[in-house]
Amino acid sequence: MTVRTRFAPSPTGNVHIGNMRAAIYNWLYARHCGGRFLLRIEDTDRERSTPEACRTVLESMEWLGLTVDEAPLYQTTRLAAHRAAAETLVAAGHAYREDKGGTGRGECIVFRMPGTDVAFHDEVKGDLAKAAADLKDFVIVRSDGNPVFHLANVLDDIEMGITHVIRGDDHVENTFRHIALFRALGAPVPRYAHLPMIVNAQGKPYSKRDGDAYVGQFREKGVLAEALFNYLALLGWSPGDGREVLSRDEMTALFSFERVQSSPAQFDMTKMLWMNGEHMRRLPAADRMAGHLADLRAHGLEPDAGYAARVVAIMEDRIKLFSDTAAQTAYFFAEDFPFDDKAVRKRLLREGAREGLAALRDRWAAAVPFDGPTLEAALKDLAAARGQPHPDLIHATRVAVSGSPAGPGLFAMLEVLGRDRVLARITRALERFAG
Ligand code: GLU
Repeated sequence: MTVRTRFAPSPTGNVHIGNMRAAIYNWLYARHCGGRFLLRIEDTDRERSTPEACRTVLESMEWLGLTVDEAPLYQTTRLAAHRAAAETLVAAGHAYREDKGGTGRGECIVFRMPGTDVAFHDEVKGDLAKAAADLKDFVIVRSDGNPVFHLANVLDDIEMGITHVIRGDDHVENTFRHIALFRALGAPVPRYAHLPMIVNAQGKPYSKRDGDAYVGQFREKGVLAEALFNYLALLGWSPGDGREVLSRDEMTALFSFERVQSSPAQFDMTKMLWMNGEHMRRLPAADRMAGHLADLRAHGLEPDAGYAARVVAIMEDRIKLFSDTAAQTAYFFAEDFPFDDKAVRKRLLREGAREGLAALRDRWAAAVPFDGPTLEAALKDLAAARGQPHPDLIHATRVAVSGSPAGPGLFAMLEVLGRDRVLARITRALERFAG
């Protein structure tokens, strides 16, 4: 049997990460089994399903590399087939017409549940069952002639030859009805895998109120497709060997339902950004540099490429998004960087700090070469001569040359900034904070 999975989004303009994770699992499972991954656009809600909304789905999938193996099926094209199938169910006694509520507005078609318990084995949740008494007949075609979700969903899964339905566990309840429909239609029941809900830190369904919730938002923020793919894949699944940063091929090889958890999966933005940083580091050096330079240019900076490369080399492990490069490195490129008030008070305006800094400037003016070890030795030498703790000089220098109390290792940073910038910045800081 060739495995056939599908992603069946209802296009609403935004693609929630929970839906995209379902798409990813469908894709991974199909690729793992050498099967086929299909797309069905469930566009029967005429108000919300605009062409732009469909395009958003397709673009998000393309961006994430979720290639489909056959042309997408648009559910609206199947309206006549759905209605005809409902008539067949009526003719066979599996469904009946009813004027719901006796409004006289027309009859709907109601599916007759078989009156037996329904059980199935879920690849993630295990054996699930529901008693006949809890399974009521349900409408499959509304009085306006429109088929409801359950009928359309099942008929199209049959049409597409879907072998595995992999979707969010908000659909577990529907599945009992869907199975009854498959049987009444004389079609094989697919296997089911219901994925755990994605929740926020409070354990509630993760929504846009919790932060970025749509694929497009991550993309705009500068998250790499590989990183979002990896993060979402691990939101409910793990390869079982402790590895977290994985390529698409590695995930494809390792994917299995056995390692999909049934309990809710918590979305953690900090971890998402960590993962993005990891994927950034795995890019070829030239691509990485291009990403950083693009952000610097987008912020009006046109740095010398060699200098930018040296800055990036010491700053890169702090940068988790390409869209953060300029913000994290601005003081390397512009002389009008802001000063942190608290750091100025604590580090520059303290007793002896400026005298020490002035003396340090004179020593560093003569330092040859102007590199980290030479600057460090000169600083320690001066501190000893002045009877001043050397960390005081380190902190004062950092604030004077960057405006900030935190950053990369000071001596590496000074080496990258270079003699002219360092000396000029110390001079300016001494003038500005003359006290
Ligand atoms: N359109 C449904 C949804 O997005 C499809 C559910 C399914 O995958 O069967 O929830």
